[in-house]
Amino acid sequence: MNRTMEAALNEQIKNELSSAYIYLGMAAYCESVNLPGMAHWLEVQAKEELEHAMKFYRHVNDRGGRVQLQAIPEPSCDYASPVAVFEAVLAHEQKITAMIHKLYALAVEEKDYASLPLLQWFIEEQVEEEKSADEVLQKLRMAGDSKSALLFLDSQLGTREE
Ligand code: FE
Repeated sequence: MNRTMEAALNEQIKNELSSAYIYLGMAAYCESVNLPGMAHWLEVQAKEELEHAMKFYRHVNDRGGRVQLQAIPEPSCDYASPVAVFEAVLAHEQKITAMIHKLYALAVEEKDYASLPLLQWFIEEQVEEEKSADEVLQKLRMAGDSKSALLFLDSQLGTREE
């Protein structure tokens, strides 16, 4: 695997780990405001991000590249509201989607065809990620100031499978 691609994939390992950390910070906030279902949803999300990081980690290793782990920034554990949390989730996933698309374009440019199936998987995964984040956000906005709607939504999110 060429050095440009190796560096870009190492960067993405960091970005996925950083995503996990960001979602864990959001989960901690939800826990602190007594929304355990939302916290659970975000914990599951955080675990998924760890799996994403591991997919890139495996790929770099399997292709004979060298994994370089980078520092991940400190995430926030404080948000203005549950709506603010899920606005941030959606915005974050959109940012990740752009990163994956850039990686795909780079792999084509670098003729690193062996990375394309993996990146294709991530392109499809991001469609799902944005969809599910947007779904929760829309429901939260619909709930508005209704405490009972918020509690109902919270218990619904608590059923997300690992
Ligand atoms: Fe991810």
